[in-house]
Amino acid sequence: MSVSQRPATESVLDVDRLRADFPILQRPMNGRRLAFLDSAASAQKPQCVIDAERECYEQYYANIHRGVYQLSQRSTQAYEGVRRTVQRFINGADEREVVFVRGATEAINLVAQSFVRPRLEAGDEILITGMEHHANIVPWQMVAEATGARLVVAPVLDDGSLDLDGLRERVSERTGFISVVHVSNTLGTINPVEAIVDLAHQRDIPVLVDGAQSAPHMPVDVQAMGADFYVFSAHKTYGPSGSGVLWARLEHLEAMPPYQGGGDMIRTVSFEETTYAPPPQRFEAGTPNIAGVVAMGVGLEYIEAAGRDAIVAHEQSLLGYANERLAEIDGLRVIGTAPDKAGVISFVLDGAHPHDMGTILDMEGVAVRAGHHCTQPLMKRFGVAATVRASFGLYNDRDDIDALVDGLKRVREFFG
Ligand code: PLP
Repeated sequence: MSVSQRPATESVLDVDRLRADFPILQRPMNGRRLAFLDSAASAQKPQCVIDAERECYEQYYANIHRGVYQLSQRSTQAYEGVRRTVQRFINGADEREVVFVRGATEAINLVAQSFVRPRLEAGDEILITGMEHHANIVPWQMVAEATGARLVVAPVLDDGSLDLDGLRERVSERTGFISVVHVSNTLGTINPVEAIVDLAHQRDIPVLVDGAQSAPHMPVDVQAMGADFYVFSAHKTYGPSGSGVLWARLEHLEAMPPYQGGGDMIRTVSFEETTYAPPPQRFEAGTPNIAGVVAMGVGLEYIEAAGRDAIVAHEQSLLGYANERLAEIDGLRVIGTAPDKAGVISFVLDGAHPHDMGTILDMEGVAVRAGHHCTQPLMKRFGVAATVRASFGLYNDRDDIDALVDGLKRVREFFG
């Protein structure tokens, strides 16, 4: 039985059964059981997601929206149906608020160029935090450069928490937009986004929440959160790469000019004048990633069927176990020990370069990421060039953590 057939109320994850849904986890790595601890970079895909993408191409693929023939209608229904899945998944108010994009990066760039850029003047400020992914830094620098606005950065405390007072102090008369990460991909810190939205809205400042690392791991309710924009990528929610979501309040989408021009985003075109389709089509120029969107929907259903509270409980329990076990390794320092933390652990080890650690761990069948995790300013904040990062998905178990710790003991032996 696939997980999507199980009741959503299941409170504890049956990880052995979940693991069986993921073909790649059945493959040995260097003769060992694969301990895949890199889901923050990209999650593995369950069979139902792989099947959904293949089924689309095998059974009913055709371009969407324009065809009167059955294949095109079925394709359109499958693609459009995912808007309702996304709406439910994040508790949006209206399916027209769901724009399909390539991923979180494209969603942030879309908001930056279409919503924020026209609203800013020289001297205005865009406020972000010191723990942002490059995808939530560079688009704002580009807007700042184009408008003469300034990028302002809220500090990160020593334990990897956001300095909320520091953020509050940096909200000024000139703050035109705030963009914050919900869960840090490097530290695992869960940010108090509701509080940030509250303080921003007291001054009518719109807020984007980068949900790339929250959507896969916790219940998300965009209405309760109160944000103006929420973005995530399908490849981290057990779906395919190349699709993702921009959720935005309908009133914003309705007021925004298109981001790209082309087919599907228009109402009428003449050489003299073009009128645009309403949202969300206005922001989906060109033939989209049809099969990728369909399979993204199946990935989201897979998460729902596993149970989001159960995922939180499971990943929190793994985090506790990993922290305990990593304490056995002499000279290991965890970077990011905020009290409110998701299943991401970054660490450094005295005398061992993160890339060497990653290579040795790989020989032991343990896949972790070594590097700056697209957060170079955050690395600088903690005085390191790189870390090793172990991150969890719903398929990880204590054996994976044990394999990591055994591998690190080998690293320790190797480097003395
Ligand atoms: N934001 C965060 C917090 C991320 O972790 C990532 C990806 O690692 C992104 C944004 C960018 O996502 P994508 O590369 O899927 O567009």
